[in-house]
Amino acid sequence: MKAALLEGIKHLALRDIPDPVCEPDGLLLQVAACGVCGSDVRNYLYSANTGVSQRLKGHEVSGRVVAVGSKTTGFAIGERLSIAPPISCGQCYYCQRGLQHLCDHYQEIAREYPGGFAELMAIPAVALQYGCVCKITDQLSFTEATVSEPLSSVIACQEAVNVGLGDNVVIFGAGPIGILHAQLARIHGAGQVIVIEQRPERLGQALKLGATMALNGLQDDLRPAVLNATENRGADVVIVAAPSSMAQAQAIRLARKRGRVVWFGGLPKGSETKVDANDIHYREVTIYGAFSYSPRHNRMAVDLISRRKIDASKLITATFPLGQVEKAFEHAAEGKGLKTVIVMN
Ligand SMILES: [Zn+2]
Ligand SMILES: [Zn+2]
Repeated sequence: MKAALLEGIKHLALRDIPDPVCEPDGLLLQVAACGVCGSDVRNYLYSANTGVSQRLKGHEVSGRVVAVGSKTTGFAIGERLSIAPPISCGQCYYCQRGLQHLCDHYQEIAREYPGGFAELMAIPAVALQYGCVCKITDQLSFTEATVSEPLSSVIACQEAVNVGLGDNVVIFGAGPIGILHAQLARIHGAGQVIVIEQRPERLGQALKLGATMALNGLQDDLRPAVLNATENRGADVVIVAAPSSMAQAQAIRLARKRGRVVWFGGLPKGSETKVDANDIHYREVTIYGAFSYSPRHNRMAVDLISRRKIDASKLITATFPLGQVEKAFEHAAEGKGLKTVIVMN
């Protein structure tokens, strides 16, 4: 089969590699679409890894079942699926408490197992049992289905910080994740949804796609603007969906007393963020971490997109065939549109 392998920094090569084998208790998927994630772009630009499953990326996957293992139950050839990467063990302390994404034996497709920038993908038994494999209806396009993966972590994050009715929410970042946060906050009944973004061309787009206010992170005076929009209190919830320690620190300043700040976006290894300790202490601000999601969040994401509560098609601004995968990554790296998706023939 054809597969895009990350063979070096800024070097994605289309190779012929052996077809993956369907495990007796697994599935074989003919990949239909695979989204390009911000983390994929970072790997492409900065840190090519070794090992086949490390080089074959792509974790926002949809496709059709083409083979079913002899011992696999509950799936049939021809069924349409969306696949997301987290795989947990189902047994450990965290799994037993419904926090599968914090599993002590956490694994991911496109890390421990080969990913979806390929014509075929084997779905291992552990993914069927403890992962995120969802059947999708014919009404949902394969391309739209790929957005359920990033939406899953957005859902898990807003559940953790309990975004609710009337909450004024500030979001750093107007990329696909920031926009999904804005749209989900609206669904949760948020009041103000203020998006902060450094690229001016993304501000208008954010307003069209769910934000009630968009601020330029480089030019606008953020604290007065947020106070002004929140009856001088500050935001109930501040979500940092931009890989910036400056934004992580600024977020605390924009939260109200007893406000919730969540550091959603990952930073480069070893990053440190300097915060004003007294600002947290006296104003009783809480800082949350948010990473990944559990299978039930993935299920909710697929449902929200299927029922068009979130219109995934508006987030997808470019599609490329697998043969142009490098071009697709260059496009995504420019950060002009929102979501780039690789679509197979
Ligand atoms: Zn992703
Ligand atoms: Zn576990």
